[in-house]
Amino acid sequence: MTSEPSSGLPIASLHDVGRAAVRLIRANLGMFALTVGFGVVAAALSLAPPWLAGIVINHIQRGASVTDVDRYGIALVALALLQLLISRYSFLFTARFGQRTSQRLRRSMVDRVLNLPARTVHKADTGDLMVRTTRDTENVTGILSNAAPEMLIAIVQVVLTFVFIAILSPLLALVTVIGLLGIVVVTRWYLRRATPAYLAEAAGHAEFAESLAATTSGARTIELYGLQHRRQQDATHRAASARAAQFATLRLRTVLFPAVDISYAVALVLVLLVGAWLYGANGIALGSLIAILLYVHQISGPFDTVLLWLESLQSGIASFARIEGLAAAGLTTTAPATGSPSGSGVTVTAVTFAYERGPTVLHGIDLDIQPGERLVIVGASGAGKSTLARLLVGFEEPATGSVTLGGVEASTLPVEVRRSHVALVTQEQHLFHDTIRTNLLLARPTATDQDLHAAMNAVGAHWIGALPDGLDTKVGADDEFSGAHAQQIALARVLLADPQTVVLDEATSLLTPGSASNIERSLWSVLAGRTVITVAHRLSTAQDADRIAVMDDGRIRELGSHEELLAQDGIYARLWRTWHSTG
Ligand code: ADP
Repeated sequence: MTSEPSSGLPIASLHDVGRAAVRLIRANLGMFALTVGFGVVAAALSLAPPWLAGIVINHIQRGASVTDVDRYGIALVALALLQLLISRYSFLFTARFGQRTSQRLRRSMVDRVLNLPARTVHKADTGDLMVRTTRDTENVTGILSNAAPEMLIAIVQVVLTFVFIAILSPLLALVTVIGLLGIVVVTRWYLRRATPAYLAEAAGHAEFAESLAATTSGARTIELYGLQHRRQQDATHRAASARAAQFATLRLRTVLFPAVDISYAVALVLVLLVGAWLYGANGIALGSLIAILLYVHQISGPFDTVLLWLESLQSGIASFARIEGLAAAGLTTTAPATGSPSGSGVTVTAVTFAYERGPTVLHGIDLDIQPGERLVIVGASGAGKSTLARLLVGFEEPATGSVTLGGVEASTLPVEVRRSHVALVTQEQHLFHDTIRTNLLLARPTATDQDLHAAMNAVGAHWIGALPDGLDTKVGADDEFSGAHAQQIALARVLLADPQTVVLDEATSLLTPGSASNIERSLWSVLAGRTVITVAHRLSTAQDADRIAVMDDGRIRELGSHEELLAQDGIYARLWRTWHSTG
């Protein structure tokens, strides 16, 4: 079960977080067992000195010799040395367990982000996604490496301390429990409020980051419209909310810690009073009473550790819930696919679509694209061509109606199946800051240099022959590398990936008109047998297409071959005449 905040990214339930934690421990069970085993032994050894002190006092009372006392002294030193050694290994195993688990978590984090459906990323706040991948992940890995093991050892110490007290005097053990009850009450009060408070704190940070990210990415627009003041106000407002959320958690802590300190004092005083009475009534040996008092005094150490980490644990659980939420977002939210697509036909039936909180932008689209067909979609800007392209590849889900790829509902296809079946190339192309070869191999890791050159040739990227480093030329961060070249690399990538269906949405917009139409024709011949859907604002290639769909105001107005549409003498014929006379 998950809940979905306004940013569109879900947060996992406590139950799912628990299951994820168990999975992480299971994956490293051996190291976990060593961590716990050594932790328990170290904890038990740390309880030995008060016990021995009690025995020494009892012996002295009964008139023990100096050699007896010396023997206990030596035993104490030996135990202390042993504890030092075991503690060292305990910390070593703890750290190793934490590191391995963190590594696993980070790896799965990368997988999850890559698995997010495009429409989820599209809708999500950049800031929220950023905070989940950075601050939340750091938070959880920090806790796994430090808090979880230390807490475990501290809890063992607390339990063993009670056991030791109970062995010496069950009555005083009961008194200690009563004395410390205050801690339980105040901790329960704290925990009930802490999770929502820490979630609010994390959300506050995310919103602030989102505001900054939006300001940075929209800097030019902000300057153009003089929106600096408004952005500043927005950032100030969000910083104030983030601070308020942080103060709320601070207030919780200012109640917790003093209340806990008072409880220790109450427990000590109660044990002292009851113990003195017991001693007076000959119910306990002096040495045992002193040992118990030392234990009650010493218990504040591990208790504080638990409480201190409880706070981090709370914020860690909140972070973990946000990370696990990404896994939920990566799952297809709609009904599971009924099978794998067969063939490259695309069928659009009675599709309507609206962006979130926006008006309907596609109205009752019907389109039956045959396997191997070359379809060109034309129309004025804002007609809905790109939106239709996104629906065809399953990036968006229709509000009503259906889009099927090879007979299967597009938006229900698992991401990896969809990626291997259909590709969308838009005018925005991302090149990784790496060599051209690496950028191309992303699409087909097994391709040979010959394959890469063939793909580059097919998209008219002959310039690669003129580069001194050829395929080893670094691209990505270099502004001089032109957008046209980037588009060609993107198209070559699609050829290498060789999906059944290719949707090109203004994929050659940055190339000169002549080379764009050459490249589109060359793509068609290389992709012969594949279904190719091209969104174009130039009509140059339309006449070679099998069919042309003319879109206007979210509807398909005309559909047919170049000759058929010219004969109809409608929108397309008009566009063609205009384009022909000017172009
Ligand atoms: P075209 O590709 O034909 O230019 P689009 O599909 O991009 O048309 O746009 C169709 C309509 O949908 C337009 O009115 C546009 O403003 C709107 N639109 C496009 N993208 C979004 C979006 N991400 N959110 C909201 N509205 C959008």
